[in-house]
Amino acid sequence: MIDLDAIQARADAASPAPWWTSPDYSNTGINYGHGNNRQQIGKMHGTGDAAFVIAARADVPALVAELRAAREVYAELGPILEPLRVMHGRHLGTDHLPCGWCRLISAYDKAMGASDGHKDAAVW
Ligand SMILES: [Zn+2]
Repeated sequence: MIDLDAIQARADAASPAPWWTSPDYSNTGINYGHGNNRQQIGKMHGTGDAAFVIAARADVPALVAELRAAREVYAELGPILEPLRVMHGRHLGTDHLPCGWCRLISAYDKAMGASDGHKDAAVW
């Protein structure tokens, strides 16, 4: 499972947002702050790289927050999914192809860092 605390710590240790460059990316220097407080913190070799790094400064904390919220929802789903897992497991045969329930349980297990639910289906 991805360590969100480590990712957030790296984001928190970076220069403060927002990061910016020239609007047309003609200068791929990456900056933060404005006026006398402006500091160049890097220079990229391509406009795509500069756009990615600048956006990452805001995207990474946003993704961490969104994934934390999703994990909270998943954690609440656990007790709800458990009876489904048991009930579905009783109906599994050796020729069972992954169905919607298998995919749901598998997605839940992956999100929670557990083993793949469908691979474990044979032992339910
Ligand atoms: Zn299934």
